[in-house]
Amino acid sequence: KKALLEVNNLKQYFPIKGGVFGGTVNHVKAVDDISFVVYEGETVSVVGESGCGKSTTGRAILRLDDPTSGDILFDGENLLGLNKAKMRKKRKDLQIIFQDPYASLNPRQTVRQILEEALEIQNVVSRKERRQKVEDLLQTVGIGAHQMDRYPHEFSGGQRQRIGIARALSVDPKLVICDEAVSALDVSIQAQVLNLLKELQQKFQLTYLFISHDLGVVRHISDRIIVMYLGKIVEIGDKDSLFENPQHPYTRALLSAIPSINVGEKKKERIILKGDVPSPIDPPAGCRFHTRCPYAMDRCAVEEPKLHSLSEVEHKAACHLLEDGPYDYS
Ligand code: SF4
Ligand code: MG
Repeated sequence: KKALLEVNNLKQYFPIKGGVFGGTVNHVKAVDDISFVVYEGETVSVVGESGCGKSTTGRAILRLDDPTSGDILFDGENLLGLNKAKMRKKRKDLQIIFQDPYASLNPRQTVRQILEEALEIQNVVSRKERRQKVEDLLQTVGIGAHQMDRYPHEFSGGQRQRIGIARALSVDPKLVICDEAVSALDVSIQAQVLNLLKELQQKFQLTYLFISHDLGVVRHISDRIIVMYLGKIVEIGDKDSLFENPQHPYTRALLSAIPSINVGEKKKERIILKGDVPSPIDPPAGCRFHTRCPYAMDRCAVEEPKLHSLSEVEHKAACHLLEDGPYDYS
């Protein structure tokens, strides 16, 4: 297994306007010291509620926002060491697909113009070959060549997402970050787009970082899953092990909210968390989840839990309950 992406101790703190008070500047600690690896050809999902730092992580990897600290190694090269021009070239290898492709597709350009422009910017094929490449790309994502002179508004949401995917693939990327890429679509269309992404992964040897608020959606597409809460990784593991034996109380709560999924052999009860996600400006001390955790103990409010290794296959979770191995929740 070759690591394609290595994120080490990534922090992304955003200063708050007007946050200077008594000499201190307040920050939103959107991502607070996370590390993970993505291997070539796999799909790693990053899951959590909105505000947990998952999109921020994706944006930092692409350097859409420069991180506060940490390392991001891509193919062995530290992206944070690249200047703007070099990073722009690198974008050929790292593409992103957003939730709402409509917002990123120029409404005044036809689909063909959109794709030709992407090809031109990265200089992927000669001018002569461009038209053929656009036709091929559209066919690959299931859109007929006869539709290429239409504008984005003439397509359905699912078709527009296919166009967004075609644009991302036009430059032959290695890593594609999908940020809530199917979240805005109807369930049946979601399944179609997820299947398409899987097919394309095989065909073009793609690696995916799949960002979603919904564990149910990522279930079929993921090889491994990272669960985030308030800027921290709380659980990371191989998909089957995470679904069959979730170990962090937060992961268990997220899974219990998906009606079609059973946790372990036992009939699953819905775990309702109290309160809302606290503010990332001044996150709770100790375990950040302690204000909502049904298992919280005194020490949880003061002592930050480490990621504990739980099995032979990769499975780790950050919770004091797991110091001596997996916890028996039955
Ligand atoms: Fe709950 Fe404590 Fe574990 Fe945090 S460390 S998840 S508060 S039991
Ligand atoms: Mg987001």
